[in-house]
Amino acid sequence: MAPLLPSSTAEDCFEVLQAEGKGLGIFASRDIEAGEHVLIERFFLSCPSDCSEKETVEAIVKGFDALSKEDQTKFLELYAWYNPVDTGKFQRYFRKQRPGGKTLSKEDVDKYTRVVLTFNSNAFGIQENKDGVFLNASRFNHCCDPNVFWSTGLTPDHFVGIANRKIPEGTELFISYIVPEDPRSKRRDTLKTRWGFRCECERCMDTDLFGYDEALKTAVGLEREATAREVAQFPEERSKFVKDEKDEGFGETLERRCESLEYLNWLPELFFAHDAACMYYCYRLTEIIPGTDKELRDPAYDQCIKHAKEALTIAESLWGPYNLLTASARETLESINKGKQVEDGTFEPTTPRTPGK
Ligand SMILES: [Zn+2]
Repeated sequence: MAPLLPSSTAEDCFEVLQAEGKGLGIFASRDIEAGEHVLIERFFLSCPSDCSEKETVEAIVKGFDALSKEDQTKFLELYAWYNPVDTGKFQRYFRKQRPGGKTLSKEDVDKYTRVVLTFNSNAFGIQENKDGVFLNASRFNHCCDPNVFWSTGLTPDHFVGIANRKIPEGTELFISYIVPEDPRSKRRDTLKTRWGFRCECERCMDTDLFGYDEALKTAVGLEREATAREVAQFPEERSKFVKDEKDEGFGETLERRCESLEYLNWLPELFFAHDAACMYYCYRLTEIIPGTDKELRDPAYDQCIKHAKEALTIAESLWGPYNLLTASARETLESINKGKQVEDGTFEPTTPRTPGK
């Protein structure tokens, strides 16, 4: 059995530095290989997410008050988005509180308002009914085409960040805060409303070819020269899947990445590229109405399943069957297959095996 999580975290590969115009950010302090864990971190402060807002606020305040002075300072150093609606709402809420029969001082009203805004600006869903803030993971800035894959579902209560491509020393590490498959206007709206900034990443700025794809193109070119292969049709061969104006050709970008990485045989990166492509087609499926557009849904399903299978095969060969990423890839493939079977009416629930003989 090869456990995915090493006993110590991989914090030696990054440092928190000033990111131009974005406050602090996380930067590679050395070259990072694709597939390397960049951060494994347990949550710092959590609250239930399946209750009323009042109960959530109470839980955040209670959790904050239970922290040591030092930890409270660390928490309050995180970014807080003071959006006018929430700021006013929480200030009014804390002004009305009477703990021990006394009103809160102005300083305390300001402090607790900041605590809640900080929590909301940095929270990740960590379980179905729990949100949490991570001190280090909160330092990641956002990009709509991030170089770090993250999950809070791989191992309970932990944020796991893994490089999805090679990251040279000095480069900023990004995660995506939002659904990366959303069209630009929706991505920008969400980021503006929840975090108060306008995204100016390569994808949002309409760069023809992202830096990453440029690097892949060069690598493919070098490889071709070296092996003196014919230029042939590669990589101009594009996906045959219907292109939608709204998605800015992101699906094509992902397909091209898969093709280039497969050609280069850059295995850990190819896993993340297939995973991203699979997620892309899953997203497309959410946009096509079940039952009515079978001729559109079927090719999307085919693409989903194709990429999910590729990802699983690579994960098994790289990390073995018991690895958490492998397990997650297997789960993805199974749930897509099941979704397709349910739609086709061919799903047969498996009968539980009888214990004993
Ligand atoms: Zn963006």
